[in-house]
Amino acid sequence: MRTIVIGAGAIGLSAAYYLRKSGADVTVVDAVQPGSKASSHNAGWVVPSMSTPVPAPGVLPQALRWMLRRDSPLYVQPNLSPQFIRFMLTMLRHCTTARFEAGLKVLADLGAETVQMFDDLRADGVRFESHADPFTMLFKDGRKLEHHAHELDAMKSVIPGFSWRALEGEALVRECPSVAAGLAGGLQTFGDRSLDPASFTNGLAAACTRDGVEFLLGKAASLRQETDGSASVVVGEKALRADRIVVAAGAWTNQVLAGIGERIALQAGKGYGYDLPLEDDGPTRPLYLAEAKVAITPLATKVRIAGTMGFGGINERIDVVRAGGLLSSLPSYFSRWPDLTRKPQPWTGLRPMTPDGLPIIGPLPRKPRVLVATGHAMLGISLAPPTGQLIAELATGQTSAASRASLAADRF
Ligand SMILES: Cc1cc2nc3c(=O)[nH]c(=O)nc-3n(C[C@H](O)[C@H](O)[C@H](O)COP(=O)(O)OP(=O)(O)OC[C@H]3O[C@@H](n4cnc5c(N)ncnc54)[C@H](O)[C@@H]3O)c2cc1C
Repeated sequence: MRTIVIGAGAIGLSAAYYLRKSGADVTVVDAVQPGSKASSHNAGWVVPSMSTPVPAPGVLPQALRWMLRRDSPLYVQPNLSPQFIRFMLTMLRHCTTARFEAGLKVLADLGAETVQMFDDLRADGVRFESHADPFTMLFKDGRKLEHHAHELDAMKSVIPGFSWRALEGEALVRECPSVAAGLAGGLQTFGDRSLDPASFTNGLAAACTRDGVEFLLGKAASLRQETDGSASVVVGEKALRADRIVVAAGAWTNQVLAGIGERIALQAGKGYGYDLPLEDDGPTRPLYLAEAKVAITPLATKVRIAGTMGFGGINERIDVVRAGGLLSSLPSYFSRWPDLTRKPQPWTGLRPMTPDGLPIIGPLPRKPRVLVATGHAMLGISLAPPTGQLIAELATGQTSAASRASLAADRF
């Protein structure tokens, strides 16, 4: 079976890896080098324990309240396009407790084995920097802490090997010596992983090449409708035919699908981050600043901080005030870290977002040989291996699209 994968982010590379393992001839096409976009610009958390859909009770009202703050962690840029309005209204409909819990179950089921799958990738020679340290969430607000503790309890029954404990006073200071006085406390979770995402996409691309996957890099691909009704992939002057086409172009997926007159419910969710130098007083294990919504990932050569979610279309422009909100949130959580005198430079990444917070993984109903794999929002690294495996199973007919209706492209 000849398969073309459009997009060499974590999702496209994972699809290519598992498709090749299932015997397909695979070509990956990308306009840039593998992992150049969101897949290397993220916090690098593999967190089945955070399998929560973005639309949650209270999220959009909070975004609206924050709209006037130029450095808020969540914002929606007003946009009158019918597609954007429909997307936001659908998202609003999903901000109920019942839909949130149903979505959480789908995400948790999809990601239940992912930590083991990352270990299996390493055992197969995929090389990447990864850490198994516990994660600690820091809270200023005691009520938020209690609410989150209930959510973690619920996770214990869905995620294999997951556990948590509360950290207060001395225990919290032992865990994180530079923590500011006066925080409500922390919640520490066990069983998740953190990794250097660029090392992961590089490792996956190298393993794909080793296994015989072909890469066509440096030119954007588009889809074209042929006279017999099938789709081909156009790269430069060439039209490539395949038995299956997997579109894993992240936030750009609709630009690719436009060539065959298709569109899915997808918007870009912009995030920012900084890579800070290692410091003696800096954190040594992953931390999440609950109210500021900032993820902190200590890596071998740097400490990465990442966060913010902005709905403002596809643009990779860096708004230094918005990005700076990440840095200005730190002093209220830490007494002695970080040293910002060296003025770190922000980076950005566009997350592919769906209105219900679940990815789209499956064939297009009117073009069943074209499969879509995108919409992973804040979990595209966490869910990359299971998504790649599911794409391989759908492409080879081992799993039916009907059995994965909650991830179907036409569910909205
Ligand atoms: C600040 C931030 C923090 C995050 N933290 C985490 C985290 O801790 N854990 C986690 O699991 N997830 C996290 N995420 C989310 C995660 O990064 C994304 O969900 C994931 O990277 C999406 O992967 P992707 O392969 O779908 O998209 P991308 O990485 O964007 O890849 C899409 C690829 O398609 C290519 N492409 C686009 N158009 C074309 C075309 N026409 N032709 C050819 N190629 C094309 C692009 O060049 C790109 O390489 C975070 C994201 C951000 C922004």
